[in-house]
Amino acid sequence: MKIHVSLIPEEGRRLQYTLEGDWYRDYLQKGGAMEFRTRPAEVSAAVHKVLDAVTLDIRVETALDLDCGRCLESFRLPVRSEFRYTLVPSRDPEEQKEELSDEDISFGYYRDDLIDLNALVYEQILLQVPMKPLCAETCRGLCAQCGANLNAEPCGCKPGAADGRLGALKNFKARKQT
Ligand SMILES: [Zn+2]
Ligand SMILES: [Zn+2]
Repeated sequence: MKIHVSLIPEEGRRLQYTLEGDWYRDYLQKGGAMEFRTRPAEVSAAVHKVLDAVTLDIRVETALDLDCGRCLESFRLPVRSEFRYTLVPSRDPEEQKEELSDEDISFGYYRDDLIDLNALVYEQILLQVPMKPLCAETCRGLCAQCGANLNAEPCGCKPGAADGRLGALKNFKARKQT
């Protein structure tokens, strides 16, 4: 969803749409690993312009499919976020690059009369991805010896024995190949 700044009417503009499929692939950083998939995202936005400064109040509702950092099972994390951006035109081509990596994400730049709303939405979704996703705080993870998912059932291994994590990793790899 691209917004032409010069076309924003004086009374502002409201937008509502759904992002589906692979829309966010355009925003992936090259070489960066994609650790999650997003479900369809419901976006609503109110856009206002004062002189050439554009304020966007955006709400996004979606869910992410993540892999649990302990048991490696996939789980769904609901995401709901409301945020405001104020963007001003960039005169310096270098400024544009800073737009989404700026510490203060509520302020940024647009260029050539265009605002890429989806890029802002994606940035907000990224902020919701936990550093270490867990399917549940109580997730028991995998057995360090046999690699069994301990949420499902106890595996019967003796706790504390063997070479721990390495064994589980080997087992996990073996399971993946079959
Ligand atoms: Zn888990
Ligand atoms: Zn075990």
